[in-house]
This record gives sequence, structure tokens and C-alpha cells, in this order.
Amino acid sequence: MLEELKKLIIETAQKADTMGYCKKNSGNFSIYDRERDFMVITPSGKNRFELKPEDIPVIDGISEKVLEGTLKPSTEWPIHLQAYRTRKDITAVVHTHSHYATAFAILGKEIPPIVFEALNYGVKTKVAAYGMPGSKALADSVIEPLKEADVVLMKSHGILVVGNNLNHVLLKASYVEDVAEIYSYCMTIGNGQEPQAIPQSEFDAFSATLK
Ligand SMILES: [Zn+2]
Repeated sequence: MLEELKKLIIETAQKADTMGYCKKNSGNFSIYDRERDFMVITPSGKNRFELKPEDIPVIDGISEKVLEGTLKPSTEWPIHLQAYRTRKDITAVVHTHSHYATAFAILGKEIPPIVFEALNYGVKTKVAAYGMPGSKALADSVIEPLKEADVVLMKSHGILVVGNNLNHVLLKASYVEDVAEIYSYCMTIGNGQEPQAIPQSEFDAFSATLK
């Protein structure tokens, strides 16, 4: 069941690993089938390059029962499910511990949109309150931020990015990481002087030229 989605999960997890976003098997990826209410998600702590489709867990989005998969779902599956329940318009979620964006999450600081690439993830990032890994508090922490943004900085943990195509969502996550990294270079080069964010009106005007 859901073979194509399982293959896409594996491919994306391997791509993210190669990009350096999921060191030591961290980070997880899911897709939600809205017709059947099934969530397909990466398993817990397994080398991404050894995964086979039959390993990939499928969770019933209503009963939360694990329906398939030779391996256990990531312990962070409740965050993913909460994201799908909060945002009915999304079908793909990427969670990583990519370093620069996670540094912002640790500080509880939104990533200022200092370059136009921020448009690729909707410009905004929102910080979620701290929750212990695997806890209900952590899953619930993403509800309010997700109502305002596709990118959530999970306090002292990592980032959650949502959308509708797993590959695109990974790309969004990579733009988040790029902007966070460029910001940190600006702080170093500018001797700690805060780089100037691009105003929302400028993003709106630029978006209008792309239509
Ligand atoms: Zn995590």
C-alpha cells in the first residue's frame, strides 16, 4: 500500500542526509494521504541509505494505529500528525535539525528575511514553545505557529516545514537553512551588527512582478 509515497519518503530522506540536514539519522519526513487519512513517515533511527519500502511505517491519521512497516515510526510522528490536523491544506512535512536554523530555534528568534530567497518559504518563520522530544507538549507547540507560517522554529530542537510536495518542502527547508547561514555570516562580517531585513511591502512588490 502507498508504494510510491514510501519510495518518495526514502528518496527525500536520502537527499536530505546528503545535504547534511539529517546528521546521525536525525530528522524525519512524512506525506499525508488526504483521501484515506494515512500518514507515511520515516522510521526511527535507521540509516537512510539502508531503507526499503517495506520498512516504512504507515499510520492511520484518525486512530493513530500503525498499519504497516517493519520498523517503528519516528518518535517524532505526533508532531507530523498535529501539523496535518492543524493545516488541512498540506500533505507533506519535513523536520530537520539543520544547524544554522536550529541555532535560531535555540535562541527563540525568528529568521529575518534578509535576502529575496526567503520568498521560497513564504518569508515568515515562527517560533514554537519548548516541548520535550516525543511529548504531547512538543506536538501541540506547533499548532499556533503553523496557523501563521509554513516554517516553525522549534525551541531548543530544530525546524518543521510544511507544504504539498515533499521535494518542494525539502527545498523550502534548504532555503530556510541558507538564509539562517547568510545571517550568521552578516553578523560575523558586520561585527555583530544586525543585518537589515527586507520589508514585506518589497516582497509583495517583487512577487507581483513574477505573476
Ligand atoms: Zn527532532
